[in-house]
Amino acid sequence: MNLRAAAERLGLSPERMERMLGRVVRDSDWPTPRLLRFDKAVSGIEAGTVVFEEDEIVYGYPKIRRAMMLSPAIKRCFPDGVLVEEKMNGHNVRVASVDGRIIALTRGGFICPYSTEVANDQIPPEIFKDNPDLVLCGEMAGPKNPYVPKEVYPIESMDFYLFDVSRKGRRDMDGSSRTHALAEEYGIRSVPLFGKFGLDEAAGEIKEIVMDLGARGREGVVIKDPENQKSPIKYTSSESNCKDLEFAFRYYNDYGQDFFFSRVVREGFQAAEWSDGEDEFIERCFRLGKSMLGPMRETVEAKIAGEPIVQEVEIMVKDLQTAADFEEHFRRMGVRALFDPPLSCPGGHLVKIKRLVMSTNDKTESVIEGQLW
Ligand code: ATP
Ligand code: MG
Repeated sequence: MNLRAAAERLGLSPERMERMLGRVVRDSDWPTPRLLRFDKAVSGIEAGTVVFEEDEIVYGYPKIRRAMMLSPAIKRCFPDGVLVEEKMNGHNVRVASVDGRIIALTRGGFICPYSTEVANDQIPPEIFKDNPDLVLCGEMAGPKNPYVPKEVYPIESMDFYLFDVSRKGRRDMDGSSRTHALAEEYGIRSVPLFGKFGLDEAAGEIKEIVMDLGARGREGVVIKDPENQKSPIKYTSSESNCKDLEFAFRYYNDYGQDFFFSRVVREGFQAAEWSDGEDEFIERCFRLGKSMLGPMRETVEAKIAGEPIVQEVEIMVKDLQTAADFEEHFRRMGVRALFDPPLSCPGGHLVKIKRLVMSTNDKTESVIEGQLW
C-alpha cells in the first residue's frame, strides 16, 4: 500500500499519515482486499473511512443529527420543504466494488463477511459494471441481523435497503431523489419514501407518520432536503426509544449511561411537543418505566436462578464459509460470542450465536451475593 499517495488523496501530510498508522489508522488484510481503516475521525475525515490498494477511498458515512423537537428543528434546518423517508433499524453498510468484488463495509470500516454475502445476493452486479465508482449506502435490517435483530420487518432473514449513493474518493451524496431513481432503475430495494411536505405542514404530517410507524414497531424517519443542500436529521418513535431501553436494560452494565439518559430525554421533549393528553401521558410513562424495569428485573431473576446472561442472535448464511468468516470477524472486533454448529434449513444455514455480556453478568452476580454498589 502506498501510504504517501493515500495521504495525498486524503489531504493529509505523509508524515501525519505515518504517525497515525497503527493508532488511528489501522492496516487490515483480512478479509481481503487489504485496506487501511480510520478508527476515529481526524481532520474532517469521518471514522470508518477506508483506503484500498490503488488508493481507492470510501469515505465514512456522515453522522445524522437528531431533532428533539420536530417543528422548530425542521424550520431551522430546511429552507423550503422536506422529503421524509423511513429510518430502518439495522446496521449501516457501504457497498462498493473493489478489485471486481462486491464488498460491504460496516460503519466502522470493517468488511463484514455476512453483510457482504447479503449484498452479493441482493444487489445486481450490473450496477457496478455500469458505475465502478459507486458506493451504495444502506441499512441491513431484519430478524437475522446479528448486530441489531428486529422482527418487525416483513422478511425472514436480513435485507439491504438503499438510502444514499456516493462515489469512491468523494464525500458528497446524490440525495434522496436520485437515490430512489437509481434503486428503481436497477431493481434494488430502497427505504420507503413517505413524500414531500411544505415547511408549515411537515411537523404535523411527520407526527402522524411516526405515530403510525411506532404502533407497528418501526423506528422512525430521516428528514431530508429535497434539493440535497442541507444535512438530513432523524426523529424516532416513542415505541422505538422504549424498545432500545428494553434491550439495553437487560444488559444494563454493558451500555454507556448516556444511552439510557438520551432516550429518556427524547421522551420528555416528545411528550411536551405532542401535548399528550392525560391518558396518553400515563400510557407513555408506563411504557417508559416498564421498558426499563421489566428487563432489569428479568436479568436479576435469571442470575438468581443461576442462568448466565447472554444475548442471543442468529444469522442465516447461504455459504458455510460465510459463517466461519463471520465468527472470525466477531473475534477480530473483540465481540465475545459462542457459535452453535450451523443447521441446514430451506434457503441456507442457520447459525445461533450467544454474545457474552460479561460486565452485566459479573456485576449482577456480585450484587446478588451481597456486594455493595
Ligand atoms: P449517527 O452517527 O448517524 O447518528 P447512529 O449510530 O447513532 O448514527 P442511528 O441513530 O441509527 O445511528 O441514525 C443514523 C443511521 O440511520 C444512519 O447511519 C443509517 O445507518 C440509518 N438509516 C436508516 N434509514 C435511513 C435513511 N432513510 N436515511 C439515512 N440513514 C438511515
Ligand atoms: Mg440505527
